[in-house]
Amino acid sequence: MLFKKPSILVTSKLPGNALEAFGEDYKIKSLAGKRAPDKKELKKLFAKADGAITLLSDQIDETVLTGSKVKIIANYAVGYNNIDIKTASEKNILVTNTPDVLTDATADLAWALILSAARRIPEGEKIVRSGKFKGWAPELLLGMDLSHKTIGIVGMGRIGRAVARRALAFGMKIVYADSRRLLPSEEEPYGAKFVDLETLLKDSDIVSLHCPLTDETRRILGRDRLFSMRKGAVLINTARGPIVDEEALAEALESHLFAAGLDVYEKEPEVHPALLKMKNAVLLPHIGSAGRETREEMARMAVNNIIAFFDGKVPPNLIPEQVTGVTH
Ligand code: NAP
Repeated sequence: MLFKKPSILVTSKLPGNALEAFGEDYKIKSLAGKRAPDKKELKKLFAKADGAITLLSDQIDETVLTGSKVKIIANYAVGYNNIDIKTASEKNILVTNTPDVLTDATADLAWALILSAARRIPEGEKIVRSGKFKGWAPELLLGMDLSHKTIGIVGMGRIGRAVARRALAFGMKIVYADSRRLLPSEEEPYGAKFVDLETLLKDSDIVSLHCPLTDETRRILGRDRLFSMRKGAVLINTARGPIVDEEALAEALESHLFAAGLDVYEKEPEVHPALLKMKNAVLLPHIGSAGRETREEMARMAVNNIIAFFDGKVPPNLIPEQVTGVTH
């Protein structure tokens, strides 16, 4: 053990019993049951803890990291755009995430949104529950057929590929845009075609976002690009809210797009009021990875990363920037 009884901050209640693995060797400060800490509180807590398990909603910026005693941050998410990685790395603070384990759950949810948006599921639900269902009708809630259509995947990483696997079962064609082209052997199982973002937006009936939020991808879908999408297309965002200009999306939903399915928002938990008014927007409360086993496994991963570090080992899920030494 590197430290005698390290003190670990856990900023929220986590599902399952993963924290039990810390046993008597660690001192745990859990904020379970309390409201989410703001930046000022996080700064105070980081000044006293040796390690921290954080949520994607905890903004760990330079202010929080200045004067911090924390040596390792285990983020309870695969995305880590909530952490200032440059500053953490400069201060030799390790950052870990929870990749792979949530891939299928998130791809399932992306598909739940694709089907809901394309086939107008929430509108149908509302009709039945409000007593307005008067019987089968040839033109009731006509939606978008999926088979033989094209899905455009932005970010063909773990979740993007899992979405592509599911798309094959629906008989769809797959195009993708990414920061790099996959190897032919990686493309081959999906029959996926590498295109630039402009071509993807023009040629896809469904566009599904699976890139991380970085300086480069922030608002990558602004007004011009949203209106350059195929008319009557569907946009799905289970990646991160700030990748899309929400106000422009609401406008595009009025006149240009068939529907959108969103799990994430620009200013979470706020949702742009214009989007709330659109009945062709299917809106979920950031539940991409919210399968019970998935969330319990994410907690185990976070705990294992902390334990590995204080045992003097390299944490198994160090973020790529810290493996390669490159920062965004
Ligand atoms: P991943 O395996 O790292 O995949 C991300 C892919 O996006 C990589 O292939 C990456 O390429 C690519 N990419 C990076 N910059 C890009 C750009 N400018 N344009 C197009 N593609 C770009 O990550 P993942 O596990 O699939 O997760 C993806 C994201 O999903 C996470 O970052 C997170 O924000 C989000 N997520 C959301 C939920 C939810 O609850 N809604 C759950 C899980 C994850 P390189 O590898 O070359 O950089």
